[in-house]
Amino acid sequence: MQRKLPDTLISEEKIAKRVNEIAAEISADYADKGEIVLLGVLKGSFIFLADISRRLTIPRAIEFIAVSNYEHGSIPSGAVRLVMDVRESIADRHVIIVEDIVDTGQTIHYLHEMLKSRSPASIKTCALLHKAQKTKVDVDIDYVGFTISDEWVVGYGLDYAEHDRTLPYIGVINPTD
Ligand code: 5GP
Repeated sequence: MQRKLPDTLISEEKIAKRVNEIAAEISADYADKGEIVLLGVLKGSFIFLADISRRLTIPRAIEFIAVSNYEHGSIPSGAVRLVMDVRESIADRHVIIVEDIVDTGQTIHYLHEMLKSRSPASIKTCALLHKAQKTKVDVDIDYVGFTISDEWVVGYGLDYAEHDRTLPYIGVINPTD
């Protein structure tokens, strides 16, 4: 039987419009700074990063990093572990960490602190989605796509147990579906 598709929270058109706006903002902010490094956090940011990077009007390099959350049984402990590091040095370069979603804020906080210690010229953060009510850690997100409430979202790179990553829109998983 065909599974019901997740309900739409943010349409493909709205995402495209917002991605264009963020890319224009980043392009303006870094217009005189030379090359920037867009550092995508795998896996969830891969589509967002692909779209943002193609809309920038400034020189950019692409890098990836991967983290996972330590778990006690199936419950996330909040601690973050690096599972794949950046390949190139980020020293003296302008870095923007690109995340799919900021929830508690632990991941972006961990990455920001770790990468800051590697002497980049500057470091900023960009997230497509922000569950603002749930964020516990004090983090500044410099570029935010959309603020959302506390629901499990999928699509446009985000998954539910590896399903729905390639949906073109942001959908909500309804536990009763
Ligand atoms: P944080 O460290 O901010 O609590 O969690 C960030 C990570 O949790 C994200 O990079 C993402 O992997 C995952 N996450 C949090 N909320 C959601 C959600 O609603 N959907 C999906 N697919 N992942 C989420």
